[in-house]
Amino acid sequence: MSWLPYSRPIGARELMHTFESLIARGLLAENVPIGRLTTYKLGGVSRFFAEVLDLEDLSEVAKAAMAETTPILVIGRGSNMLISDRGFDGLTLRLGGSFTKIEISGSTVVAGGAVALPHLARQTAKAGRGGLEWCVGVPGSVGGAVAMNAGCFGTETVDVLLDATIFDLATGVTSMRGPSTLAMTYRNSDLDPEDLVVGATFRTDESSTEAAEARISEITRWRRDNQPGGTFNAGSVFKNPPGDAAGRLIDASRLKGRRYGDVTVSERHANFFVAGPGATAQDVYQLVKVVQAEVLESTGIYLEPELRMVGQFEPSDNGALA
Ligand SMILES: Cc1cc2nc3c(=O)[nH]c(=O)nc-3n(C[C@H](O)[C@H](O)[C@H](O)COP(=O)(O)OP(=O)(O)OC[C@H]3O[C@@H](n4cnc5c(N)ncnc54)[C@H](O)[C@@H]3O)c2cc1C
Repeated sequence: MSWLPYSRPIGARELMHTFESLIARGLLAENVPIGRLTTYKLGGVSRFFAEVLDLEDLSEVAKAAMAETTPILVIGRGSNMLISDRGFDGLTLRLGGSFTKIEISGSTVVAGGAVALPHLARQTAKAGRGGLEWCVGVPGSVGGAVAMNAGCFGTETVDVLLDATIFDLATGVTSMRGPSTLAMTYRNSDLDPEDLVVGATFRTDESSTEAAEARISEITRWRRDNQPGGTFNAGSVFKNPPGDAAGRLIDASRLKGRRYGDVTVSERHANFFVAGPGATAQDVYQLVKVVQAEVLESTGIYLEPELRMVGQFEPSDNGALA
């Protein structure tokens, strides 16, 4: 399924009225910079933006959204997203408030869609449960993890997910879906663009706080030693092709250190592209295209982006792959 923003038809008068009333009530804002909500800290504004704090807010915004032609973008912690410099000409939704709660009881953890994965890992460990330690190294949200089937160190979200609570922005209906109905594959799921993950339940394992925290420290140390920490990036830019690693292929194509504008292929981890202070989102986009083309030429393998690129980019000056 495509994750791209979607549109639905409606008349202009209704649109103005609906948006005006939400703006007047403080539920919606106009021309909000959303690039800064991503880990790249690049990109422009969203024409409309709502941070929804509870289900009541969400259903208000959804009622308006249902009546709009405006595309919708759901943003989590923006750790796998590049917003174009031109921004996003639609409504961006982000969860906050009550969607940041965690409840640990017995062997399960119920977490709101906006919970940060590292926080989930640490709270679960603190409660003396294991199985979610890997989340400490993934700086996304619970909603983003379900949508992307995030994972590392041999575990993916699908392996620990019991169910996800999904609010359908197209109908306003909330439903619970088990992992088998979400078609969660490598860094993907079949969530529709209007499916907003408002919460999820995870299974945990027997552990002790000490053992789980030791594992968390081990993962944190590995990340510090092997990834360009403290920089502006969005983790892996490309998915690993079957049986290989995108980073290895980029390295083998002698692209470590390659720059476009002020964005560089990391020397530390070739599948991470690091943005410098003068970078634009377009620079990231161009570097994605350059690396994709050069890896294809030197290895014959087409690297599929894992990074979700939102909005309009200038055509690449990189010929056929633009
Ligand atoms: C330093 C670093 C290391 C990383 N390491 C890993 C790693 O080891 N493994 C890994 O898998 N990923 C990794 N990532 C990528 C990223 O953290 C994951 O893909 C994460 O799951 C994205 O979550 P997010 O909330 O930031 O989503 P966003 O980047 O905000 O959005 C990503 C996608 O999820 C959708 N989405 C977000 N929230 C929701 C929601 N509530 N409901 C429905 N859809 C939603 C968005 O619409 C978009 O399509 C890393 C990123 C960084 C910066």
